[in-house]
Amino acid sequence: MFELKVITYFAAAHRLKMVAKKCENMHGHNWKIEACVGSKSLNSAGIIVDFGEIKKQVSEIIAKLDHCVLNELDFFRDNNPSSENIAFYIAKKLQGTIENNDIKVTSVTAWETEDACATYKPL
Ligand SMILES: [Zn+2]
Repeated sequence: MFELKVITYFAAAHRLKMVAKKCENMHGHNWKIEACVGSKSLNSAGIIVDFGEIKKQVSEIIAKLDHCVLNELDFFRDNNPSSENIAFYIAKKLQGTIENNDIKVTSVTAWETEDACATYKPL
């Protein structure tokens, strides 16, 4: 399988319910998002898809999270805005923008700090 990865960033605030006391207080992160898409085959140009196209799609998804209080967004009212759920949310939204059925989101990783991240890998 071939895989490509794009990296984007956004800044937002969140409050995590029932995790640890200090996480329950409103605080912010500069999230680093790694989004990977894969395909078993390449197109006639020898690529999975243009990096710019995936980067644009991820940027549009992230623009709706950037500088927000994540808890106030519809998806995160019912789902704790953890890095795990942020990765899941971006993976689902990104897959929805990809029209080529041969191209699948293989993973999305949300880095909350330099040394802590969560990954969602659709099966
Ligand atoms: Zn946090």
